[in-house]
Amino acid sequence: MEIFKGTATFSGIAIGKILYYSRGEYQIRQSLVSNIKKEIEEFRRARSQAARALLELYEKNRLLNVQEANAFLEQKNLLESETFQKAIESCISSEKVNAAYAVMTNRDEITETFRSLEEPAVRKRIADIQEISGRLIQILGGASLHINLGEEPMILVTESLSPTEIMEMDKEKLLAVVMHHGSTVSHTSIVAKTMEIPTLVDIVAEDAWDGLTAIVDGYTGTLYLDPDGEIQKEYEIRLEADKREKEELLKLKNEKDVTADGKEVGLYANIGNMSDLNNVLYYGAAGIGLLRSEFQYLGRESYPRENELFLAYKKIAETMGDHPTVIRTADLGADKQASYLDIPEETNPIMGNRGIRFCLDRKEMFKAQLRAIYRASAYGNLAMMYPMVSSEKEMEEIEKLIREVKESLQEQGVPFRNIRTGIMIETPAAVMISRELARRVDFLSIGTNDLTQYTLAMDRQNPLLKGKYDDHHPAILRMIRMVVESAHQEDREVGICGEIAADTALTETFLRMGVDFLSVVPACILPVRKALRETDLGGR
Ligand code: PEP
Ligand code: MG
Repeated sequence: MEIFKGTATFSGIAIGKILYYSRGEYQIRQSLVSNIKKEIEEFRRARSQAARALLELYEKNRLLNVQEANAFLEQKNLLESETFQKAIESCISSEKVNAAYAVMTNRDEITETFRSLEEPAVRKRIADIQEISGRLIQILGGASLHINLGEEPMILVTESLSPTEIMEMDKEKLLAVVMHHGSTVSHTSIVAKTMEIPTLVDIVAEDAWDGLTAIVDGYTGTLYLDPDGEIQKEYEIRLEADKREKEELLKLKNEKDVTADGKEVGLYANIGNMSDLNNVLYYGAAGIGLLRSEFQYLGRESYPRENELFLAYKKIAETMGDHPTVIRTADLGADKQASYLDIPEETNPIMGNRGIRFCLDRKEMFKAQLRAIYRASAYGNLAMMYPMVSSEKEMEEIEKLIREVKESLQEQGVPFRNIRTGIMIETPAAVMISRELARRVDFLSIGTNDLTQYTLAMDRQNPLLKGKYDDHHPAILRMIRMVVESAHQEDREVGICGEIAADTALTETFLRMGVDFLSVVPACILPVRKALRETDLGGR
């Protein structure tokens, strides 16, 4: 038996076999083909299928949004153009490679060649090439983003995982995750937490571990490799106790979120994926306080279209009924990347073009999301908030876009509601102008994960800063207090949606500060509910 000590990012115990995953195997593979004619036929078949799909999208959208519908037609024309066809087919025949690989190579070459050109028409063309290539690759089955976990539930051990990779895994087959990279507040860990998967980071794994039995202790951050009989027995007993404790907590799932002295508090869930919706309702959350909508943009080959976003938001609105859902508009950039986004390399992406800055730079993309949110608002209780805001100027730009979106929906006779809006407080600048920001919206939501990294100037994902990145730093607690006061001076609601919101040791502190709501991963709803029901503010 060997024992490794790491950092637990989500509690729980797992006992099972290790699956060692190394990236690379699952990307588009180049294979040499012997039957070129057959490969070209494959490509042509995929091309016709993609063209049919684009035509269908055009038909579906043309009454609602002519501009968007026409974009599908333009892509179809590009796909069927002789130049595009020749480029791919000559790559297949001269290089003797498979069709998916040829499509990818062509896409990457074009992107690389024209990447420095700023001209809107060129950029649009590149985006179209990326989109149709993505479609083709998907049809050709060349891109598998899914990690095949096999039949039996496994402990996944790896160097690092992206948020998308973990999100696309079958939760039922995943006992635990053990990684070298990541931290308690990295997005991959947050996704794992949302999926309720015990997770350890900061453990350097070896591929030779593949197939070995292991125990993951997500309370102490320990990994037991090839555990001896006694340890295994002890952990089997602890696993049972863990289950019983969780069952005990479940008794609270229909209880109110109210302190011992009767103060009502909003307790909401943070999710990133449609499949997390079930847990929100299962644990009896008041609603969704943070829907990390950017995940719908990741793990794919092209931008989601307005209609796709609309359908997803509509489904959420309908499923949640009267319970509110706060959609956080796409927080892309930094650690949330996809190749089709074509984000130029940045020296310091964490301080770079991310969140609302990125959306305001790509107004068409942003407007598509805003339209989708407003269209879906007619079907339930939606709200939206903006990530990484740091100035009132950004808010002016957002307000202008919202006006345009509403006007065009009105003109088209599309029903929508005037939904509540909020701002995420994630930068020290936003804290300092929180009163001015509060005036512009209905609520503020404090994102302490980013607020900590920007206040302490410490990358939230950097494993070297383990024990230094501290979201309980007095500076952060004072900032929370300041934002609560600013919001209340303007008669606005204010809450916390960063990971710190789930720390039950701080529940009383937050309530005493006057925080109106907390938003936490679904698995933390019941522990936080228990803590706040036990808190007595003395009738404050
Ligand atoms: C935060 O920064 O605290 C937050 C809730 O947003 P995210 O973790 O998605 O950056
Ligand atoms: Mg954030």
